[in-house]
Amino acid sequence: MPEDCIFCQIVAGDIPSRTVYEDDSVLAFLDANPLAPGHTLVIPKAHHERLNDTPADVAGEVLSTVHELVPAVEGAVDAPASTVAFNNGEEAGQEVPHVHAHIVPRFAEDGGRPIHALVT
Ligand code: 5GP
Repeated sequence: MPEDCIFCQIVAGDIPSRTVYEDDSVLAFLDANPLAPGHTLVIPKAHHERLNDTPADVAGEVLSTVHELVPAVEGAVDAPASTVAFNNGEEAGQEVPHVHAHIVPRFAEDGGRPIHALVT
């Protein structure tokens, strides 16, 4: 793992995080700067920078976990909907170069606005 990867350090337990789900290959935890209550990140434990670098089986495990967690995350914060997204590459706004899916609960008061409208 790259020494300076924040998410690898979270996987190793060197940086604290609030775990939502964990198995042998995938970790889900709360985002430290949430766009909404319950904002969850889902990552493979193995380091891959972006989706393009991620083997299909690993990407499948991440997506399968996202699929399972979406109803649970929405339910935990009583959200009727959620935005699920990958920022795939620096130019797309990916700040942490360890592939991750965002699950961002969405609420009626969001007024159906796209996710970037939540960022001020
Ligand atoms: P990106 O812009 O790369 O798609 O999203 C990275 C996400 O990681 C951001 O939403 C940011 O708040 C979150 N993040 C960055 N550093 C940490 C950290 O140390 N702990 C947690 N839990 N989230 C982090």
